[in-house]
Amino acid sequence: VAAGNATLAVGVDVGGTKVAAGLVGADGSVMQRLRRDTPATDAKGISDLVAKLAEQLSPKQRGMVVPVGVGAAGLIDRDGVVRFAPNIDWADYPLREELQDRIDAPVIVDNDANVAAWGEYCVGAAAGVTDCMVMLTVGTGVGGGMVLDDRLLRGSHGLAAELGHLIVDEGGQFLCGCGNHGCLETVASGTAVGRFALQGLEEGSAPRDSVLHDLDRSQITGKSVTVAAHAGDAYAREVLDRVGTWLGVGIASICNAFDPALVVVGGGAMQAGELLLRPARAAAEARLIGKGHRRLPPVVRAQLTDDAGLVGAALLAMAPAPA
Ligand SMILES: [Zn+2]
Repeated sequence: VAAGNATLAVGVDVGGTKVAAGLVGADGSVMQRLRRDTPATDAKGISDLVAKLAEQLSPKQRGMVVPVGVGAAGLIDRDGVVRFAPNIDWADYPLREELQDRIDAPVIVDNDANVAAWGEYCVGAAAGVTDCMVMLTVGTGVGGGMVLDDRLLRGSHGLAAELGHLIVDEGGQFLCGCGNHGCLETVASGTAVGRFALQGLEEGSAPRDSVLHDLDRSQITGKSVTVAAHAGDAYAREVLDRVGTWLGVGIASICNAFDPALVVVGGGAMQAGELLLRPARAAAEARLIGKGHRRLPPVVRAQLTDDAGLVGAALLAMAPAPA
């Protein structure tokens, strides 16, 4: 069954703790939503749940086929096999096939940052861009997605655009979840904000007057540092500046390699907004090749915040299958 001219789709965002699903229109509007806890240790249970939510959200008109798009964190190949996932017990797991067995409509499965990029491209911050855009989702880790010539960049196996694992600090002090040292996400994520802040407090380099001294060590997170920074804490701002600078180092490399029209930054760490983006732009600008003869593309906040995953997944399910 072709999904190419569908104007409605069910989008499902499978997170480590919650599954969010919605019935989505072609303009990205969400007409109905459902949320459930993720049975994270029960892979079959997740498939059963996604199928049930899709069934509940699909309109019941006879003959109407509503495609289903699913986004999840993990390395997901072109066949919808999850090669590896950080939060869920999926390893070389044929997720798309398993869902397709349970759902009587076309199913697509893709990486969460890829679907978020597609959503921003179609109806969000990058609407109007027609050639190349890049999305970074900065949260616990850093996810990446890219649209090139009206297509999501997939690479030869579907594993492309893992921009959080660009190695920007070879021999760097922090070990990444992927097993490498110095990946962008070790120094430019929400986790990195907490980690750098804690390091300064423990080494004694943090100024005495920082409110972060009053917190228990376990409370030093990207979130608490961001709150302190918004309240004007100079040390917290310095930490965000450092992380923003690393983010800009990554953005410079991405721009040098792909020359996008726009860079969209989303994810939980965007609570810090300009406190991260300002240093990121400055650092990226300073490292752009051909400086003075070109401009850094706009680096802007994502627009589809909480719904990015389910909206992007639904819009991708509506898109015509690539030739
Ligand atoms: Zn990595």
